[in-house]
Amino acid sequence: MFPLDVGLVSARSYPVMDDLNIGAMKARLVDRRAELLADDAATSADRAPVELDQQSVGRLSRMDAMQVREMARAHAGRRRAELARIDDALERLDAGDYGHCTACGEAIAPKRLAWDPAIATCVRCAGGGGET
Ligand SMILES: [Zn+2]
Repeated sequence: MFPLDVGLVSARSYPVMDDLNIGAMKARLVDRRAELLADDAATSADRAPVELDQQSVGRLSRMDAMQVREMARAHAGRRRAELARIDDALERLDAGDYGHCTACGEAIAPKRLAWDPAIATCVRCAGGGGET
């Protein structure tokens, strides 16, 4: 006799589209996207090459400016990665694939989507330990 494995209720049984408020998810994605784009525009000057007038600002200020630029570039990289994820999620929304793992096609737990609306994979495919 095999013990009944109650932990293996099929992920397919999640009524994804019923449980998720797709409109609210889309609004969250669109809002976040606008926020990231605004951030990007607001900090673009910080990422420009440091071309300061050496005579008026001096060496220390120039180093500060370079440090600011490096930080701004690192932030920009993260922002672009997030933007790409959001764009992908919006594409899936329009295609009607939203809420399904891009790797295995199983439904993604609504809790997981609520935590990050741009998430593309189910917890198994993400290989996350413990998080839902
Ligand atoms: Zn998966």
